[in-house]
Amino acid sequence: MKSQLALRDTSTVAEHPGKVVFLCPRSRPEIIEHFVAGFGTEDERHAFEEHLVICDICRRLVDREEAYQAAFREAVTEIAEDKKEGQNATGSAPTS
Ligand SMILES: [Zn+2]
Repeated sequence: MKSQLALRDTSTVAEHPGKVVFLCPRSRPEIIEHFVAGFGTEDERHAFEEHLVICDICRRLVDREEAYQAAFREAVTEIAEDKKEGQNATGSAPTS
């Protein structure tokens, strides 16, 4: 199961490293970005979800965008926590 997925992944991406984005008319960055961020009407989102079932390219792009947005949120959270720690740093020693 796992190796099959990995195999499929390499074949498509390796053949067209920079061109995957243009192979599907729906796979425009702004569409993927909006979908992952939760924008769009219910109908739009539903239509795109149905498209994801049949489209490997968009699924891959959504995965990548989700990872990107998750990493971004994490970074923002870390910055916010750093600021908080900086404000009440009195008395608490760094644990690392
Ligand atoms: Zn697609």
